[in-house]
Amino acid sequence: MIRNSTRRPHVIVIGAGLGGLCLAQGLRRAGISVAVYEQDSSANTRAQGHRLHIDGQGRQALAATLPPRLFGLIAAIAGRPAAKVNGFDHQLRPAGAFFLDDRECAGDLMPTHTVVDRPVLRRILLTGLDDIVHFGRRCIGYDSDTDTVTAQFADGGSARGSVLVAADGVGSVIRTQYLPHARVVDTRVRLIYSRVPLTPDLRRALPDAMVAVFNSVVGPDNRFVGVAPVQYRQPPVAAASQLAPEVAFEPAEDTLAVMFGRRLDQLELSDAELRAAPGQRLREMVLDNLSGWHPLVTRIVEGWTPASIHPIAVHSSVPLPPWPTSNVTLLGDAIHTMSPAAGAGANIALRDAAALTTALTEVTTGRPLHDALRDYEQAMIDEGFRMVRMSAANATQTLGADPLPI
Ligand SMILES: Cc1cc2nc3c(=O)[nH]c(=O)nc-3n(C[C@H](O)[C@H](O)[C@H](O)COP(=O)(O)OP(=O)(O)OC[C@H]3O[C@@H](n4cnc5c(N)ncnc54)[C@H](O)[C@@H]3O)c2cc1C
Repeated sequence: MIRNSTRRPHVIVIGAGLGGLCLAQGLRRAGISVAVYEQDSSANTRAQGHRLHIDGQGRQALAATLPPRLFGLIAAIAGRPAAKVNGFDHQLRPAGAFFLDDRECAGDLMPTHTVVDRPVLRRILLTGLDDIVHFGRRCIGYDSDTDTVTAQFADGGSARGSVLVAADGVGSVIRTQYLPHARVVDTRVRLIYSRVPLTPDLRRALPDAMVAVFNSVVGPDNRFVGVAPVQYRQPPVAAASQLAPEVAFEPAEDTLAVMFGRRLDQLELSDAELRAAPGQRLREMVLDNLSGWHPLVTRIVEGWTPASIHPIAVHSSVPLPPWPTSNVTLLGDAIHTMSPAAGAGANIALRDAAALTTALTEVTTGRPLHDALRDYEQAMIDEGFRMVRMSAANATQTLGADPLPI
């Protein structure tokens, strides 16, 4: 049970990923005290090169939490491909298209469906949070009582607050301690993820129909290639210099994000071999799997930048019933990690962050903390696990992923 006396919560957030940073932006904007602790030693420690499709939920969350000038910067640079997901067979014969809901609200700066690279979005989310985000602090657990919760760190230090938020992703140490019965399962699907510079030659070779949010190319035996263009509306560096000069971007080029997917038991390399293999070896393995496919698909994979090729093991959380509310809560992948097969995980993490900002803002006007967190968790559990189920069903159908256990 939480004591409900606090109208000025101090919020401790573990994890400076997309969800944790969006929450920090929202809380700071609402005048609520917040500190974020991130295990990586800096924002650039790990390559985080995934392209992200921002949908209506993500857009709304970013608009609600970010200072308007930073949201305006995203709107100015984010790519605006056609709002649909195309299906093709391995000879690039159309196999249906799924049109995404792209209703626009009057006055909106940004359409419902856009794309950016993750490092670009993360750089924007980090802007202005230098005094709030503490890098090189790996959380190893927490202690709590009715008034406070204290996060413990690997360096021997600790941080105390009135609420602790687990935004520490799929391997969350907070979830492991708080909800030890929550399960994350291996779907047995492996993705080899990479990118190709979208040169004028490659753009000419790409049918206009493929300039869409996502292209799903499915061949025999559930072999899968996903192709997704990232074409900036304005170069991020130039847009930042006009709109928000404090945002320090690396130069970013237009690319095609490309992933190959197959079940692990159908690949010739084991997990350990996938992790150890250099990029060229992974590309070779993928090209062997694409023998006889349409020449444009093999040309795209041949163009993969070796340093950007990496394997991903696809995991999914198993939906669980609600738990009693306390002063520890969770958001994003820490509680409802999902297969990327619906392209929704980051959007739901952003949604959670905006919803938790609203809940904690209500506390500052007198709402009991327990009630605010309970209602946040109810909606977060419903929406998060709804998307977990949908993503798992997509992955089972397209890639032959193991279905979620009952
Ligand atoms: C191939 C691929 C493609 C995807 N495409 C899309 C897409 O198009 N659209 C979409 O919506 N989603 C997509 N996703 C999903 C999306 O990437 C995740 O759902 C999203 O990043 C979750 O955000 P998060 O903030 O919850 O966690 P994360 O972004 O994983 O952040 C967690 C942070 O916590 C830190 N951390 C972990 N443990 C500790 C600790 N003990 N102490 C301190 N810090 C810690 C980590 O270093 C990390 O910075 C994709 C995923 C994959 C794998």
